[in-house]
Amino acid sequence: MTFLDTDIKFLKGVGEKKGKLLGDELEISTFADLLYTFPYRYVDTSRFYKIAEFTGEMPSVQVLGQFINFTTEGEGVKKRLKATFSDGSRFMEIVWFTKIEFFKGAYKPGQYYILFGKPTQFRDVWQMAHPEVNSYDASKPPTGFRGIYSIPDKLRKRGHSTRLLSDLVKNLFENAKIREVQDTLPAEVISKYNLMPLLESLYNLHFPQSPDKLKKARERMKFEELFYLQLHILRFSRERGRRIKGHVFPRIGEFFNNYYNNYIPFELTGAQKRVLREIRNDMRTGRQMNRLLQGDVGSGKTMVAFMTMLMAIDNGFQAAIMAPTEILATQHYETIKGWSEKIGLRVELLTGSTRVKARREIHQGLLDGSINIIVGTHALIEDNVQFKSLGLTVIDEQHRFGVAQRAKMWKKSEVAPHVLVMTATPIPRTLAMTVYGDLEVSVIDELPPGRKPIQTYLRFDNDRTEVYRLINRELQAGRQIYIVYPLVKENEKLDLKSVETGLERIRGIFPNVKVCMVHGKMKPSEKDCQMELFVSGEARILVATTVIEVGVNVPNASVMLIENAERFGLSQLHQLRGRVGRGAEHSYCILMSKNNIGGDTRKRLGIMTDTTDGFLISEADMKMRGPGDMEGTQQSGIAFNLKVANLATDGQILNIARQTAIEILNAHPEFIETPAEGKDNYSGGELKLSMESVMKIRKELHLRFSKKYDWSQIS
Ligand code: ADP
Ligand code: MG
Repeated sequence: MTFLDTDIKFLKGVGEKKGKLLGDELEISTFADLLYTFPYRYVDTSRFYKIAEFTGEMPSVQVLGQFINFTTEGEGVKKRLKATFSDGSRFMEIVWFTKIEFFKGAYKPGQYYILFGKPTQFRDVWQMAHPEVNSYDASKPPTGFRGIYSIPDKLRKRGHSTRLLSDLVKNLFENAKIREVQDTLPAEVISKYNLMPLLESLYNLHFPQSPDKLKKARERMKFEELFYLQLHILRFSRERGRRIKGHVFPRIGEFFNNYYNNYIPFELTGAQKRVLREIRNDMRTGRQMNRLLQGDVGSGKTMVAFMTMLMAIDNGFQAAIMAPTEILATQHYETIKGWSEKIGLRVELLTGSTRVKARREIHQGLLDGSINIIVGTHALIEDNVQFKSLGLTVIDEQHRFGVAQRAKMWKKSEVAPHVLVMTATPIPRTLAMTVYGDLEVSVIDELPPGRKPIQTYLRFDNDRTEVYRLINRELQAGRQIYIVYPLVKENEKLDLKSVETGLERIRGIFPNVKVCMVHGKMKPSEKDCQMELFVSGEARILVATTVIEVGVNVPNASVMLIENAERFGLSQLHQLRGRVGRGAEHSYCILMSKNNIGGDTRKRLGIMTDTTDGFLISEADMKMRGPGDMEGTQQSGIAFNLKVANLATDGQILNIARQTAIEILNAHPEFIETPAEGKDNYSGGELKLSMESVMKIRKELHLRFSKKYDWSQIS
């Protein structure tokens, strides 16, 4: 047992009773727990507030002044002590509810004290309840910063304040044995990046010696947290790379070249070409490709998927592409069939509604290898779907599939197929690196040329006539319109628009066109039927909930109207907006909002009107909502229990931490359990560690991640 594992009751100033209280209320049972319970904010002790500066939203602040008088009020449990306190120009009231006799005699009128507490206003009078009181020595005015700890009510009621913890931490640092505490980072890493040593960092987090030192202390703790997390994730994914073999696709062959040279309907963008090269490189290594392809809506992911499938086919394998809905699968089928016909490949569609006879033929064709490409929905996962030689699985719009479902696709061939996961929800890099670990990420960051940008407007209820006029004009020009609502049914508690009432209204306003409706509460068959009305162009307006968010392609649609836009997340709005701008000369996205939205909401919606760059939007979204809420991360299995680091803002530290982890793994393949056959082939530098540092890392990894979970495996 080390010093830090010592029971907290043995710390000077604690004992049995307080020890139990700390354990119950603050989860502090050992010295280490205390040391790692950090202040949640810091106060500049040289800054005194004037009562005239008080506002209702202030946290605890310092006031310098004198007590004028003390009076007791009430009887029994209602008894309280009040004092008038002056800062020299104004007065406030101080209230104590417990230990009244003690406080009455504790402070002398006429002397200067520093009060520390949260100002609250009662009627017109500013008050502070149970402030911390310290005497003031004009010859030694306070300087520097102090940490403020969060203290639960139960402790406060017993008269404890934030000072309880700072006093205890001080006692801990006065214990000579604390010098024995080992640094948790290897010495080589500390010196390479000039990080603050552990003890100094801990000290500065509790008692900052300067703002600069506090910053360095924080950086070090964040680095440490991210470093071990990255090391853990990367170690697993390398392990996986060794364990799981992949098909080797050595050549670019006839189908690929024939299609590329003679039939491709457009010049690939630079980004599409680059991504194809990245994929090609993966597929000839002998490791199984596990690649996430991110590309904004309309960036041309389908063609990349198709060309990748051709690589598999050229090497004698079959390819599958799986979409989350029947509508999407059908669209992919038609697109891919059109492309494949040119070069004589057989493509089939398999969904829940494929008839028994056709289904049987497809099963047969997959088994005997006569089907080259199968497009489908979840139906592809079923056990009776067997392949002759599945070499590649493409999964579109990955966040609609659960991890377990994706894993099933693996089992369809002896050697796991290469996997390409495509998503239009741009995940900020920092998040992707943490959630998906060593999963290779490709990004199509360029739209095909000639796209007309979508004009986005924020409009309010009283602009409706103007908005309907725009819709009318587009209808006259032969275009189609999406209108999205947050709810299916009106709801008394929520003042939001619903698709059912919307349908009636829109039919009334545009009586000459057919209006159809889809929402998540419909039966799938009914939904498909309504959707088909819109895809075929028979219905000109589609009113819907966000079920239309993913992938639907109706190039003739030119307006996306979103009701109660203030209720949607930015990434969701971006997805919805991506449904238009796919063909029409000009497209519009109109965000309808109620009139009285707050500043934050206005700012959020302002991002939508300012940019169409999915990555910018996604990063802004992450900064505003925090990474835990990001779409696509919920099912990933990672708990966002980072204590000090913040994925939204600490991208730079994360980069360095990851780089360091990579270099260490390059130099120390012994961190990976499965022995390598030959040499691992990872690029990047090497950081060689001493034996002592290697042991240190092993210990830390064990402490932090003894529950094994392979985060890197996404498919
Ligand atoms: P997404 O990435 O959203 O799935 P799609 O693959 O559906 O995008 O492509 C959107 C549209 O752009 C399709 O009509 C597709 O044919 C077209 N497209 C794709 N790549 C190019 C390109 N390089 N040049 C021109 N048009 C392209
Ligand atoms: Mg797509």
